Amino acid sequence: MLGELRDSHGRVMRDLRVSVTDRCNFRCLYCLPETEEAANFYRTRWEGLGKVRPAATPIAYEWKPKAQLLSYEEIERVARIAVGLGVTKLRVTGGEPLMRQGLEGLIARLSGLAGVEDLAMTTNGFLFARKAAALREAGLHRVSFSMDSLDAANFRRMTGRDGLNEVLEGIRLAQEMGFSPVKVNAVVIRGMNDHEIEALAEFARERNLAIRFIEFMPLDSSRAWQRELVVPGREIVERLKARFGLQRVDQTGHPSETARRWRFPDGRGEVGVIAPVSEPFCGHCNRLRLTADGKIRTCLFSIEEHDLRPLLRGGATDQELASRLVEIVRGKEAGHRIGQADFVQPARTMSCIGG
Ligand code: SAM
Ligand code: SF4
Repeated sequence: MLGELRDSHGRVMRDLRVSVTDRCNFRCLYCLPETEEAANFYRTRWEGLGKVRPAATPIAYEWKPKAQLLSYEEIERVARIAVGLGVTKLRVTGGEPLMRQGLEGLIARLSGLAGVEDLAMTTNGFLFARKAAALREAGLHRVSFSMDSLDAANFRRMTGRDGLNEVLEGIRLAQEMGFSPVKVNAVVIRGMNDHEIEALAEFARERNLAIRFIEFMPLDSSRAWQRELVVPGREIVERLKARFGLQRVDQTGHPSETARRWRFPDGRGEVGVIAPVSEPFCGHCNRLRLTADGKIRTCLFSIEEHDLRPLLRGGATDQELASRLVEIVRGKEAGHRIGQADFVQPARTMSCIGG
């Protein structure tokens, strides 16, 4: 091994999240809220709280020109070097990863890297059914679907698209084809889908899959996030414990897992709560992110990015790239600063960063 990716706080990086595109076919309320319904929701919420929305302008973004996106060869090279430095988990994400053509080609390259123990993808699921067989064949281990609502009308309000049936079909197919575990991510927003928490958990139990409830983070393009819209993880757990009698999963020995996990008494399905806002887990973070245009981010909330593209396209050797990665990781921030007076929302949205 060329060394390891250890930061100045003693954390060692094991997990690389690779965004393959910044494009997306959805317009989620918490990510790219561009629909009129999203605007109305946020306006009403801010007014209801008697608050004046800060003048901060929405984040303007344009899809990156294709020439600026890393090629699959370039992504594979960065991943190979990171794996050589101790990364064992790779997650392909976006934007919507299935919007990028020939994704199975990248999956085949990544699954062929010696040292990769876990190869996963996060998707909104809309295009999954048509790609599922090719992805499985290429060596994808597991899939996380984003599904915030089981109600078609609410699903549309949250994602800006009529897509619930396609996503449900994608989840069904993923389970049938043996992707394991299949996970469902639901971002919870107060006043939007928090009334569906129990129904979503029941769905996970019925279908015997893992659901992750995620706190809403300030990474939306309209900068409309406000703390009052976050449903704290603790509240979600209390509600679900009261309803289902959940039992805590023993996570000893897995400190970098982001979700606190619970199982149902009948042993089917699992619930996890990811609470980065109310209970930050930065102290155990072992994740790095590579954006579609070749920037390394050491934190979701990094203000600074580190551009690998000039190195990749300028003839740098593998050793030079590895040294650069080691150097970048050394400067990883101790943690995010949500809730602190000096918090600054990153200039790019979750869709560009890669969740
Ligand atoms: N398009 C794919 C999807 O939605 O699954 C992959 C990319 S998306 C940016 C990755 C994950 O980030 C999704 O599970 C999504 O729900 C989550 N996400 C996006 N914006 C978020 C926010 N503001 N707060 C919390 N989670 C967010
Ligand atoms: Fe697209 Fe995923 Fe962002 Fe939704 S969360 S807008 S599906 S990138």
